[in-house]
Amino acid sequence: MGGTPELRGHRVVVAGAERAARHAVARCRALGADVTPAVAPSSLATLDPALRRASLVVAVDDGNPGWDILPALCRERRILLVRERPAPDAGSVTLVGGGPGAADLVTVRGAEALARADVVFYDRLGPYGTVAGLAPGAELVDVGKLPGHHKVPQLLIERLVVEAALAGKSVVRLKGGDPFVFGRGGEEVAACVAAGISVTVVPGITSAVSVPGAAGIPVTHRGVSRMFTVASGHQPFSEAELEHLAGLGGTIVVLMGVGTLPQTVGGLLRHGLDPATPAAIVERGFSDTQRSTVARIDGLVVAAGLAGCTSPAVVVIGDVVAVGADAAAELAGYAPAGARR
Ligand code: SAH
Repeated sequence: MGGTPELRGHRVVVAGAERAARHAVARCRALGADVTPAVAPSSLATLDPALRRASLVVAVDDGNPGWDILPALCRERRILLVRERPAPDAGSVTLVGGGPGAADLVTVRGAEALARADVVFYDRLGPYGTVAGLAPGAELVDVGKLPGHHKVPQLLIERLVVEAALAGKSVVRLKGGDPFVFGRGGEEVAACVAAGISVTVVPGITSAVSVPGAAGIPVTHRGVSRMFTVASGHQPFSEAELEHLAGLGGTIVVLMGVGTLPQTVGGLLRHGLDPATPAAIVERGFSDTQRSTVARIDGLVVAAGLAGCTSPAVVVIGDVVAVGADAAAELAGYAPAGARR
């Protein structure tokens, strides 16, 4: 079932004990249905008028053998019957990697976890624009902006996630990209384990590889680069790190690297990186406003300034940048280095 109110105007009877049927009830309501819950087989008699007008019965298997009468009842009244697994009893947490932002780059497993969620904690990266559609019926909590917090501290997020699971809810913590690439996923797993909560991780498509790819840049390319290093630029690199990065000879991918770009570029050049090395800044990958700025590394800071590059962006440094034909032309001087779509 998608996010559109495709059950609007329909009466739906959801059969099953309240706890087991809670996901089905929430989802049908989110899809616009007029829902009548039937919590026990004995209630079917009193619900008969509702049943007569229903166009759909959702039967949740709550283990009660009394529901065996439902199929015959529905057949007799010509009502469609669909079965659904019960919602789990104990709370749990699923960390879902939401990918780089496009709704259709969420994995099938991630989408299934979202569809079953009672509550989703999300923030401003990843496919946040479509969480409501992927998780109809779930309570949605934007931990990027909780009331009273400019930036919600990580420990508070962990506490909210753990508390919801302890209250018996199926919790999804939705993260941009992959949960374990600069996503603090490891800390959230540890918090759940410490609280004795069952936790699983659904990997996601990381921006480190997919955003360069969206701009036509392969992070490895036969004969050009046989390694890539993914680094966080949220703080300036140390001299030792810059020296190693400059000497590696492979592709360097920097996330959160716009603010520290001058230090990164200056440091790599100081440690001997070839000033003619091609580089690119890919902003807002997979969005309508995706943009690539391509230049030689010694011209990258000026090009970024002229183009007004902002976060979120992935910085790619290495010969693979020139593999794409457009970039190669720009770098050869056929077109001025700078912004292009
Ligand atoms: N876990 C995420 C990364 C979180 S750090 C992942 O695996 O992708 C956040 C950084 O990721 C941003 O500052 C930016 O550098 C990068 N990023 C994430 N999505 C992006 C996108 N759609 N376009 C460009 N950069 C993106």
